[in-house]
Amino acid sequence: MSSIKEIIQNLRKELSEHNYNYYVLDEATISDYEFDVKLKELQALEAQHPEFYDANSPTLRVGGEVTKNFNTIVHNHRMYSLDNSYSLEDLKDWEARIRKLIDGEIQYTCELKYDGASISLTYENGSLVRAVTRGDGFQGDEVTANIKTIKTVPLKLKGEYPEKFDIRGEIILPFDGFNKMNEERVANGEEPYRNPRNTASGSLKLQDSAEVAKRPLECLLYNLTGDNLGIESQFNSLEKARAMGFKVPEAAKLTNSIDEVFEFINHWDKARHDLPYETDGVVVKVNSLFQQEELGYTSKAPRWAMAYKFKAEQVSTKLNSISYQVGRTGAITPVANLEPVELAGTTVKRASLHNADQIEKLDIRVNDEVFVEKGGEIIPKIIAVDLSQRPQDSEATEYISKCPVCETELVRIEGEAKHYCPNYNGCDPQVIGRIQHYISRKAMDIEGLGGETVALLVKEDLVSNYSDLYELTVEQLLPLDRMAEKSAENLVNGVEASKKIPFESVLFALGIRFVGETVAKKLAKHYKNIDALANASIEDLEQVDEIGIKIAESVVAFFAVEANVKIIERLKAFGVQLEISADVLANQTNKLEGLTFVVSGVFETVSRNELKKLIEDNGGKNASSISSKTSYVIAGDKMGPSKKEKAEKLGVTLISEKEFFDKFLI
Ligand code: AMP
Ligand code: ZN
Repeated sequence: MSSIKEIIQNLRKELSEHNYNYYVLDEATISDYEFDVKLKELQALEAQHPEFYDANSPTLRVGGEVTKNFNTIVHNHRMYSLDNSYSLEDLKDWEARIRKLIDGEIQYTCELKYDGASISLTYENGSLVRAVTRGDGFQGDEVTANIKTIKTVPLKLKGEYPEKFDIRGEIILPFDGFNKMNEERVANGEEPYRNPRNTASGSLKLQDSAEVAKRPLECLLYNLTGDNLGIESQFNSLEKARAMGFKVPEAAKLTNSIDEVFEFINHWDKARHDLPYETDGVVVKVNSLFQQEELGYTSKAPRWAMAYKFKAEQVSTKLNSISYQVGRTGAITPVANLEPVELAGTTVKRASLHNADQIEKLDIRVNDEVFVEKGGEIIPKIIAVDLSQRPQDSEATEYISKCPVCETELVRIEGEAKHYCPNYNGCDPQVIGRIQHYISRKAMDIEGLGGETVALLVKEDLVSNYSDLYELTVEQLLPLDRMAEKSAENLVNGVEASKKIPFESVLFALGIRFVGETVAKKLAKHYKNIDALANASIEDLEQVDEIGIKIAESVVAFFAVEANVKIIERLKAFGVQLEISADVLANQTNKLEGLTFVVSGVFETVSRNELKKLIEDNGGKNASSISSKTSYVIAGDKMGPSKKEKAEKLGVTLISEKEFFDKFLI
């Protein structure tokens, strides 16, 4: 019989191995289901046996640790910048310079330049102990809790490794994951993120590591530093890092001359467009570490490396017209309609203009010859106007003042870049967009009804808001274009079935601005029914865990609109779930109402997340840091001494896990 400790250790090892196969090697060796089962098993064992706690257990990948202030850490070795070159000529000059400084043959390692946020990871005895951002190169912010959630970062190393070393890499967000995140944001009525790079670097400084865990970030490694690492060359160090379990892209190549470097560059200048993530150039490094040492550093960059920046692909073409799109929230987006032109392998016909300020800043006018670039952004953008070709009779662009669809006067809220059409209930794209959101999979999940049919139903005046869906009949639908008896029945049945969708999804489906899936869940759980939510004040709402002023104001504004209240009354009459179901309620009480807890450390009978859930389910509130408003700190094992000190200073009572259960829940 193996001991519990061995079982736990074996599970950790096995799960880490599957993680590695899946995320680093891209080869799944277990089904998602089996993985989940094993992970749950490990979670349960760890909860029962906190004495075997391990800060690098795969169960901690889901995050949960919240960092209010990131500690500043001085790098063990400075994180230098790189010198840039923009032409093959520049690179030749660089080669000539280093030839003067060293004798003998020079080999070069060529790597892609990954476009994300740089990170330095410190490992000791095979375990990740710290992750620090580049900062100013001398010191950065410690973001370990966030980095641990990134599945391509090994928490424990494989094979042989030096006792202590740093490894540098880049945190990136592949296009696929970036697009998915944006789809979700748009579905929640939020502005999409502009580009993967900024989103990746912004993610590192999120306070809640569970949020980071949800983002499909990756870590690509390119440099080992430390003393006595037993490596002689850059290329060799990449191979070593790979063997330890790090993700080191296979593109890296050892070359024997500057001409081979040029070949590498020419190849990737095209091939990079097929990569799943953004690269903005190539980094050429003298391969021998001995030669690197001889060359040394300038005040800001190594002499032994040079970045070659790809030219962002750019073309010029004519701007034929500007059109304006209206989104489901009423936000107006100007779009440039271009004379079709080839750019980075695709035909570009449209480019984003973002907002009125952007048009004014670049002084973009119809009939201008404009430069279009495809950078980190997915949609190409206009970066400048070729003024030499501007027609004589050209006139400055006047931004629209009325909605292009319903002609309502547009409004611009102070501090926001976009114009809005305020005709909430009478502007087709808004009406249609809201119903499309209502029926979508994560909302009411109405089968048998698609986005185009919604548009048709609105155009034919059969529905004007989502509550009208519940009165549709087969007879009404049949005369519609391409609507067979069977599809009409499916549609009506699909609508009927949506009456069973739980309250939290209904709340999301209503399309209240900034109320995405998670926020909807929080609000549903806290208020339990729509009337309580509708009556909540801004101050009330702000008391709910993780609800800020922006969301609070948006909720209050929604219920202040008479038409919305009427629609909700109708939904209620049709039998849509507007309160939390009995099963969910059965596990909830108000025992902890008015109390705020801070949960800290490791617990014996429950995990930290379970404890937090218990607090919420019983009407209490979780806070992430101790303040004078804290009622109790539930102190587990390994609670930090600074927290203890703070609690004592503020006179907040510390209670143990057992005391918590005895006092409040039994
Ligand atoms: P720069 O920010 O232009 O000074 O370029 C230096 C940055 O390039 C480094 O801080 C790294 O984050 C990043 N980088 C991306 N890929 C590589 C690579 N393969 N080797 C070295 N640095 C890289
Ligand atoms: Zn409008």
